[in-house]
Amino acid sequence: MSLEKVTLKQAQERAAADVPPRPIRMIIWHHFEVPTARDYEGIVTMHSVRRYHVETRGWGDVGYNWLFAPDGDIYAGRSLTSGDGAHCIGHNDDSVGLGMCLNGDEEDLALFPEMQRNVLALTVTLCEVFGLTAEALYFHRDFGSKTCPGVLLDRAQYRAALTAELRTPRQEGVPPTVNDDPTSDIRR
Ligand SMILES: [Zn+2]
Repeated sequence: MSLEKVTLKQAQERAAADVPPRPIRMIIWHHFEVPTARDYEGIVTMHSVRRYHVETRGWGDVGYNWLFAPDGDIYAGRSLTSGDGAHCIGHNDDSVGLGMCLNGDEEDLALFPEMQRNVLALTVTLCEVFGLTAEALYFHRDFGSKTCPGVLLDRAQYRAALTAELRTPRQEGVPPTVNDDPTSDIRR
């Protein structure tokens, strides 16, 4: 069952063990948009996100592989080895989806340093697990017309931070294919 709250260390260990047979080429960041960080009410909020994905969208589980709270708490979402994700049309089979409880159009991730730190830390781990460079970090908006994870977030800044953390990159990132299909972010 997904949506178990885990420590960063537990998340990193789980990420290292949850390796599917298919290739993973990118890490894609999302914001929930709704609920915003201001609306966050603990695990109840995370369950509301999953309920939306499962009951309204008809998916088998929450779409994101990992979910992050404004206070830095980490929730394990859909396991990569349980099947494809459901967070970015066109890339649900070759990416890891990280969802942040944030409206990045109005709330800068930097306002939530614990969440920022843990999202980056787990992204570093995922890059190491799958042999990716910082170029493998994408934002949902790279694949559609949405702003996700919000206009206040600068991908180049986070790629630079990732590069600094990844001391020995093992392979080049794979460029994305452009996809203009509708996206899967939270609406309510
Ligand atoms: Zn998104």
